[in-house]
Amino acid sequence: MNSPAIARNIPDWDAPLPEALGYAWIHGETWMSGGEPIASVNPATGEVWGRFGDGGAPAVDAAVTAARSAFRCDWGRISGADRAALLLAWAARIAEEVDQLAWLETLEVGRPIADARTLIAQGPLLIGYYASMIPALEDRSDGAVRRARGVVGAITPWNFPTANVLIRAVPILAAGNTLVLKPSELSPRSAVLLAQLASEAGLPPGVFNVVPGAGHTAGAALAAHPGIDMIAFTGSTRTGRAIIQASASQSLKPLMMECGGKSPQLVLPDMIDQPAIWPGVFHTAFWNTGQWCAARTRLLVPKGGLDAAVEGLRAAAADWPVGDPRDPATRLGPLASGKQYDTVQDYREIARQTARVVPLSAVPDANGFYAAPELALGAPQDGALVQQEIFGPMLTVQEYADPDEAIRLADDSPYGLGATIWGADRDLAERIAAGLSAGSVDVIVAAAARPGLALGTPFEPRKQSGFGIEGGLAGIAAFTTPQAINYAG
Ligand code: NAD
Repeated sequence: MNSPAIARNIPDWDAPLPEALGYAWIHGETWMSGGEPIASVNPATGEVWGRFGDGGAPAVDAAVTAARSAFRCDWGRISGADRAALLLAWAARIAEEVDQLAWLETLEVGRPIADARTLIAQGPLLIGYYASMIPALEDRSDGAVRRARGVVGAITPWNFPTANVLIRAVPILAAGNTLVLKPSELSPRSAVLLAQLASEAGLPPGVFNVVPGAGHTAGAALAAHPGIDMIAFTGSTRTGRAIIQASASQSLKPLMMECGGKSPQLVLPDMIDQPAIWPGVFHTAFWNTGQWCAARTRLLVPKGGLDAAVEGLRAAAADWPVGDPRDPATRLGPLASGKQYDTVQDYREIARQTARVVPLSAVPDANGFYAAPELALGAPQDGALVQQEIFGPMLTVQEYADPDEAIRLADDSPYGLGATIWGADRDLAERIAAGLSAGSVDVIVAAAARPGLALGTPFEPRKQSGFGIEGGLAGIAAFTTPQAINYAG
């Protein structure tokens, strides 16, 4: 395999890894663990490229102690304005280290380097947004004071390593809590680097602690820890259930669960003949090789629309080459792990038995966990392809007879994360949205339009996709608790 061109400013792909990124970050310093090292495999090559220490329960204990002391002293006592200023200083450090974070994401989970940079560069905007919400938390017009909850434990997945951590950590810290974060075992280093940058920016020691490790060691210890005041989890529904049980084993604590999805996208009759929709339909289903909780992986088209969908998505795939994630021209990289690759192969086998499969592009002739985007036409509604989250590049395509059937098929899912409606008829779109148990619905009324970042609009997942409000004032207020102060006399 030829070496891909190296993107400007990205560290050399063979550059040695800063050793401290492979250990826990507790109380503003590296915490060397004696736990079993965990191997990291480069998804582009299938080869082991590094190891990191599993902090396990001892590191979780140390991190909870550090976070409690920081909550009682520095972080719990400073003003909202000072907290906002420190968070903005952190945002500035992240902006300076976008290349380093993107390099880590590409090596750890195969995120295409150009896409990784673009998304990470938006991280400072997220911090700025939540910092700007801090004054609103000080409103006492209902008589209650909003208090931070205390020490929050967060457990995150790997699919967008930096974004997963920031989306969780920023509202927690902005609301005045301290944090113990357990990142995915596939992507611990970007999380450790983010916490190091927070310390460099002046966040006091113990405010943002990271404990790398496996789910059944560090993750389970954090979920059950009686010193944690709230758990915020992002990951699969299966792990979410285990965390809910573990969290109640020694203490009661509030939970936020952002779990799996199998979201639909519905093309309405007035848009099925508009070619400008297909690049957007493709992006919404296959971005990040389909490893995206809110990916819209069930396409519903009006009766007779199947051919237009196949033709349109084939054409769109030409702009999304699958390739080495280190190459800046690559838009779809490999799957993140051998486990993810095996899971996708199992669903491909089911697709071959229960649907008509249309491959949309080819994969590179290389080792690594590559899987091309595929369509599965006419898969049965009650079968695994339609009902289960695959978390890979497969889009089911089904036809509906009328809007009522579209609503019924779209809503017939154990998940309730999101939906996209492609159609200019706003009344019909509103009727469909009202019929869906989905936390977030994008309505695309002009064929070439694309939804933007809607940080200010709160939503909550439903059904097996979890619970807990994300975004907007409600999204940051979720990490506070109202304390009533009743004056008499
Ligand atoms: P996962 O559930 O396997 O792991 C998520 C995290 O939980 C990891 O840090 C893992 O180590 C930890 N974990 C695993 N077992 C644990 C246990 N017993 N106790 C405590 N922690 C444990 O999920 P994943 O494979 O990392 O990520 C993919 C899943 O995440 C998909 O289902 C996807 O839909 C979901 N996801 C959801 C959102 C959202 O906002 N709703 C966002 C991104 C990803």
